[in-house]
Amino acid sequence: MGQNITLMGMVLSAVPVGEYDKRITLLTRERGKISAFARGARRPGNQLMAAGSPFSFGKFEVYEGRSSFTIVKAEISNYFRELAGNLDDACYGFYFLEIADYYARENTDEVHMLKLLYQSLRALEKESLENRLVRRIFELKALVINGEYPNVFSCLGCGKEDSLHWFHGKAGGVLCKNCGPQVNARQLDPSALYAMQFIITSSIEKLYTFTLSQQALENLEKILDEYMEIYVDRKFHALQILEENAHFFP
Ligand SMILES: [Zn+2]
Repeated sequence: MGQNITLMGMVLSAVPVGEYDKRITLLTRERGKISAFARGARRPGNQLMAAGSPFSFGKFEVYEGRSSFTIVKAEISNYFRELAGNLDDACYGFYFLEIADYYARENTDEVHMLKLLYQSLRALEKESLENRLVRRIFELKALVINGEYPNVFSCLGCGKEDSLHWFHGKAGGVLCKNCGPQVNARQLDPSALYAMQFIITSSIEKLYTFTLSQQALENLEKILDEYMEIYVDRKFHALQILEENAHFFP
């Protein structure tokens, strides 16, 4: 016998089904990532029409059948409409949704991922924060939540905790001024190092409270690109669009 349950979550993606319906992927606090059927969600005037779009965040009442979920009702508290109005913001936002989708599983605790996603989309909407930095903060914290992130607190070669001037993607972390030059490592900007240490240890609520110089940001970008190339075995569609259109967003 099925039953109605209420889930707090965000729509990660939606695909059309038949003429009027949608199949929706939801990241929920209570059940992790689930797939749910939204009957009539493509019919104009249907109350699930807006609720069934990516970024919609709120309470979803779903009927839990033997092997599938069906959305009965939705109470959306944030549609992130400002994101949709700006192409650059929207691309980053879709990229974050793809990353969340990549990591999340059904019936796992996704409270932190959901919180990170919410805070990061809000950070994209803020004019005062540079999207390039928001992206890197999101990426590193998503790695942390999923348990595989670089060691940026001590040298991988000798264990020393100071003079960490080098980064080595394949080895998975930082090297000190003596060990770094012995391998093919990348020079590490001190502010980029501090930023990574902060992102790893900070609470999600306090993540978006700092800025970086262009030089430090570029260093952080190269480091995370290198690291994710090795440890994340997926190409993200929204990221390809972002990169192809990079000249539109100077
Ligand atoms: Zn060392």
